[in-house]
Amino acid sequence: QAKHSGKGGLQIFEPAMHAQALRRLQLKADLRTSLDLGEVTVALQPLHAIDTNAVWGVEALARWSHPRLGTIPPSEFIPLAEESGLITELGNFVLARACRDVAGLRAETEADLFATVNVSAVQLADPTLISAVTAALEHSGLPAARLTLELTESVFLDYDPAVHETLEGLRRVGVKLAIDDFGTGYCSLAYLGRFRFDLVKIDKHFIDELARPDADARLTFGILELIESLEVPAVAEGIETVGQLEQLERAGCQLGQGFLWSAPCSRQEIRQLVRHCSTPALKA
Ligand code: C2E
Ligand code: MG
Ligand code: MG
Ligand code: MG
Repeated sequence: QAKHSGKGGLQIFEPAMHAQALRRLQLKADLRTSLDLGEVTVALQPLHAIDTNAVWGVEALARWSHPRLGTIPPSEFIPLAEESGLITELGNFVLARACRDVAGLRAETEADLFATVNVSAVQLADPTLISAVTAALEHSGLPAARLTLELTESVFLDYDPAVHETLEGLRRVGVKLAIDDFGTGYCSLAYLGRFRFDLVKIDKHFIDELARPDADARLTFGILELIESLEVPAVAEGIETVGQLEQLERAGCQLGQGFLWSAPCSRQEIRQLVRHCSTPALKA
């Protein structure tokens, strides 16, 4: 198959592109059914206080186990859900599950845990997000101040009054707002000054720089200093080694998340971690 490109040239669709397009269509069609059948689930990854090693909270991450194609990564199915409009239903499901699980964990462990949930730009443009958040808090009993919504910088690319209104509404409900994947977007600096965030999550890319022998960590430390100057706690994403952890601790980063402690896991595993990490076991 071929299609004319703008300048009259011929653009050839490679078979691989065709297969990719078919896969996307297939997945889009199947997501609806998978949501109904409970094939989309939620994994939890702990966030730790870097100085004490204690579990501070858990991030909820969507998982899709496709009956024929196996595990589909969120980097593939979240954009499809955004395109097809299913992101609202998927997002509300993750939100409700996260609140329920973390409220349960708080009761079981007596630890003052936070829940963090990723919210897509598409959800933020939808005013029903506020009632979904309120409902999830009410049904679970999780205090509003213990729910953090993670937003990516793309949300702030253009000023959108509808988005701004939703953010103000969420503030009134009392939930916290975090900026996710900091440093990978565009208008991060402008928005950091204009809108008050409760947490800034530094993208794994900058944490990776701390692990390589020839790495340039100056940018990572500069970002940490910038966040500190705004008096907002920083979270380092994707910590995999003790060396990274030690450098982040010296640089004054408060919170961290990564395979060093745990990959995304089950509620039972989080419960064990909360019990073990109240004593700083990892630090030796
Ligand atoms: P994110 O919000 O930045 O989540 C962190 C991602 O980093 C997760 O990938 C997590 O498994 C991974 N990660 C954490 N620690 C490490 C580490 O030490 N090493 C490595 N290599 N990776 C680590 P995951 O679960 O594949 O999710 C990818 C992205 O998909 C998320 O990035 C988020 O943007 C999006 N996503 C996942 N669940 C949802 C959801 O329910 N709603 C929305 N809107 N987006 C979601
Ligand atoms: Mg996130
Ligand atoms: Mg992130
Ligand atoms: Mg990230």
